[in-house]
Order: sequence, then C-alpha cells, then structure tokens
Amino acid sequence: MHPMPTYADSSEDRAKSAAKIIKSPANYKICQGCDSIVLMKAHTCPNCASYRFEDSMAAVIRQARRERRSVVPADLK
Ligand SMILES: [Zn+2]
Repeated sequence: MHPMPTYADSSEDRAKSAAKIIKSPANYKICQGCDSIVLMKAHTCPNCASYRFEDSMAAVIRQARRERRSVVPADLK
C-alpha cells in the first residue's frame, strides 16, 4: 500500500475509486468533520484534519455510492 488521496481529479477516476471503496469498505472510514472517505490507516483527515471518524462499513458504502452518483448522473434511472 502507498499513500494516495482517496479522491482523484477526473470524474472517471472518482467513479473507479468509489467502486473500489464499495468492494473493500473495511479499508476506509468516513470523516465526521467533512464526510470525506479516508483510508482506515489515516490518523487524521487529509481534507480537514479532523480525527473523528465513522468506521462502519455500511456508512462507508453509503457514502461511496453517494459520491459516485454525484459524479455519474447516468446511474440515476
Ligand atoms: Zn475531514
């Protein structure tokens, strides 16, 4: 593993990273400060420096799906 930002710049990369998160939600958690999805091993949020996280897999999946929908409107049927 190497440190990489969860969010990439292009929408295609964001959709890909959302799919990856949904496949292995145990590797991620949600920042309670800004709702970013961050790597489980992160001690503070790279986005807002918060140290409070929601680490339930259900919450991670829900948040990843929300991200993906906002990026890929075609998913909305
Ligand atoms: Zn944050």
